[in-house]
Parts: sequence; structure tokens; C-alpha cells
Amino acid sequence: MVVVLAGGVGAARFLRGLTAAVDPAAITVVVNVGDDVELHGLRICPDLDSITYWLTDLVHPEQQWGRADERFTVRDELERLGHEPWFTLGDRDLALHLHRTALLREGVPLSTVTADVAARHGLALRLLPASDDRVETRIHTTDGRDLGFQRWWVGERAAPDVADVEYRGAATAQPAPGVVEAIERADAIVIAPSNPVVSIAPITAVPGIAAALRSTAAPIVGISPIIHGRVVRGMAHRLLPAVGTAVDAAAVGLAYGARRDGGLLDGWVLDTADADGLERLHAAGLAATATATLMDDPELARRLARTSLELVGVDPAAAGRG
Ligand code: GDP
Ligand code: CA
Repeated sequence: MVVVLAGGVGAARFLRGLTAAVDPAAITVVVNVGDDVELHGLRICPDLDSITYWLTDLVHPEQQWGRADERFTVRDELERLGHEPWFTLGDRDLALHLHRTALLREGVPLSTVTADVAARHGLALRLLPASDDRVETRIHTTDGRDLGFQRWWVGERAAPDVADVEYRGAATAQPAPGVVEAIERADAIVIAPSNPVVSIAPITAVPGIAAALRSTAAPIVGISPIIHGRVVRGMAHRLLPAVGTAVDAAAVGLAYGARRDGGLLDGWVLDTADADGLERLHAAGLAATATATLMDDPELARRLARTSLELVGVDPAAAGRG
């Protein structure tokens, strides 16, 4: 079994490749919930939904998030009612938020709701929210404000400078049912090429997840979300400096750290454009390799998934068997 720690779009693009390299039935994805936001009384889970829409080909192909063939009737009517439309909610997308929120209101945990939604979409892999408890990524800006992640990123286009990032609720959150067991039983754990600060850190900030990652016998390999000093998309370049990490592929791997030094990683994959960073990674005790990592092409994403597993000595075919 392969366990993937995942954010939204970067992870989804990788998972499209992994599901072609490994039997999807043997993949468990532990998904960030720190980006979740409550709007109009609805619980929105952007990372869970991005992965669902990507793996079912429902995603808007150019935008890379939300639904293709979307309509905005509800948003337009809300605007007429005086609501500032700072966060895009399409009609099709809204149906999922209505469904999820109704179940949550009945007391159904998010992990059960997520399994229900995945099954209704015919997803062959298992999606787990990192926690059923609320973990909320808060952005503290240098001008003294405390903003929800989506307010800062979508509402303010990531313009305010970031002083630090808080994972509110993480310290007391429990891992969702199945998360620790999956990490313990995995043949390999993959840290997707996701935003380290607002996609991966809110997952590993849950103490039970951090402990399971420390003690698992499975090797842990990550893929750099930074290529040649730049983000492929998103705002990691606005956040990494705030946590003291350079916007650099090797630097991100070194920030996750080698397990022998109390870090997360056994191996780190970066782009061929960043091959000059390999020496630093090897010196830190990490297995590391440089390969093509821009996943615009699904076949390339499949090869990247294979290479990542093989770097830490895992045969994709064997990992897919159980
Ligand atoms: P989000 O939650 O939708 O922002 O998605 P993630 O956190 O999963 O992914 C965002 C990160 O993925 C950004 O830092 C991107 O640079 C990175 N990313 C997106 N596409 C690719 C790609 O094709 N290759 C690599 N290496 N990174 C990517
Ligand atoms: Ca996200």
C-alpha cells in the first residue's frame, strides 16, 4: 500500500500519475483540511474536492480547480443579496458542499462523508481527511492581521506579507480514523509535490500523524513543488520565506529533513533543472534524484511516480499488491 500526503492541485496532478503506476485500490491519500473554509453556512474542503474532481476528469481543465462546464447562478443571486463574491462557488460545486454540510450537521464525521463522496464519484483509491477535527491554517500578516488562509490567498491575492503561519487546532486534533493505521502498514509514503507550508505542514502538525510518520517502517519520499526557484502555480513563494526556507527545490527537501536527523524524509525528488542541489541532499543523508517533474503530461506524472517509489527501494508493482 502507498500512502500519499496531499494538498490540492499539485497533489492531484501527481495522483493522476500514481494511479497509473500503482493499483488505485492500494493507494490511501491523507488530505490537508487546513484550507477548509465555512461560507454561507457551508463547509468547503478545497483540497479534498480538487483531488476528487481531477481524478474523475470533472475538473476545469484550464483553471485546474473547480468544475468544468460550471454555472454561477447562485453566486450571482448572492451578490444581488449583498454578499461580496470573494470566493468562487459554482453551482455544481455547491451541490457537493450542500451534501457534505448536511451530513456533517447530522453528526457524520468528515472522514465518513469523504468516503461517501468518493464512492459516489467512483474513486478507486481511498481519500482520508487528515483529521475529523477542525485544523485551521491562519496567516498572520506583517500588518498585524490574523486571516484565514482562503481570505489571504483568494480574498487578498496573497498580497499581504506573511509574518508567520499558525495551524490552529492541530495540537489537539486526532488523526482521522484509518490515517495512523495506513501510515503504519504502508509499503511507501509519498509527500506529494504540494505546498509545504499550507498543504503538508497542517497534516504533519497533527501530533498523532507526526508520531506515526516517525515510527513507520515504510520509507518516505517527497517530490519538490518548486522547479528552478519558482512555483509551478500557487503561492508557496510567498510562504516559504516566512518559515525560513528558501524558494529552492533542495532547500525544501532539507527543510523537511532527513529521518536520521529527526526529519521526515528518506528520499527527495527534484527537477532536472535543480540537479545542482543533489550534492547537498546526499550530504544530508537523503536519497535523491533529478528527473522531469512538470506534470502537464499524465504519462510523465506516471513515470515520476515510479521514479519516486524506486528511489526509496519500493517496487511499484509490489506496493500495488497490498
Ligand atoms: P493547492 O492546495 O491546490 O495549492 O495544491 P498543492 O498544495 O497540492 O500544490 C501546490 C504546489 O504544487 C505548488 O507549490 C506548485 O508549484 C506545485 N505543483 C503544481 N503542479 C506541479 C507540477 O507539475 N510539478 C511540480 N513539481 N510541482 C507542481
Ligand atoms: Ca489547498
